[in-house]
Amino acid sequence: MLRTDKLLATMGFGSRKDVKKILKQGLFSVNGEIVKDGKRHVNTVTDILKYSGEVIEYRETIYIMLNKPKGYVSATEDKTEKTVIDILQPEDALFDPFPVGRLDKDTTGLLLLTNDGKLAHQLLSPKKKVDKRYIVHLDLPINEEDILALEQGVTLDDGYTTKPAKVEYKAESNASVAYITIQEGKYHQVKRMFQTRGKKVIELKRERMGSLVLDNELELGEYRELTPDELEELR
Ligand code: URA
Repeated sequence: MLRTDKLLATMGFGSRKDVKKILKQGLFSVNGEIVKDGKRHVNTVTDILKYSGEVIEYRETIYIMLNKPKGYVSATEDKTEKTVIDILQPEDALFDPFPVGRLDKDTTGLLLLTNDGKLAHQLLSPKKKVDKRYIVHLDLPINEEDILALEQGVTLDDGYTTKPAKVEYKAESNASVAYITIQEGKYHQVKRMFQTRGKKVIELKRERMGSLVLDNELELGEYRELTPDELEELR
């Protein structure tokens, strides 16, 4: 059971004031009965909820696939920078989603935003060894020796040795475009891994996280909710 005003606010119907207005206007009904009192409790499982005559389904969680553009930090708030949450429409931001892991400000591609802490934890836990695949544009081509070293583990500038990775290069790119799959998420990890081989990462884009693949229909800065199948596979 949940209070009507809380339910509407959670579902993205606006601020407390907006919700009050909706109720006052008689736009919300429960089992065919108009509810004007925000304190009235509803059963979110069995009651039939309607807004403006249309049935609405109650939900608390949101799962968003964003094609992150450059220039945004992977955080919910920042004093000086634009955050990935600023990209969202207000009705989606109302669910209080947060980014699952971080992409650098200048990294693009797949970023999952959700308010489901349990799923986020599962995806980020080192124990779960979730694959993250990136496409990398380099200033110099890589060779077989680089690939072997990166795959076996390289020692970063802070002394940390990376866990095994998978590296391939795009044949038609003269080996200056590579794919790397890692299961870790250390600070600037991909950039620092290539740096150990004397290569600078010029462009970095994440294409995949676990079973989730970036939808190539999404332009930079666009997003959509996960499909039920995508969500089920990810869990
Ligand atoms: N590795 C990096 O260096 N940057 C990212 O944004 C993600 C992985």
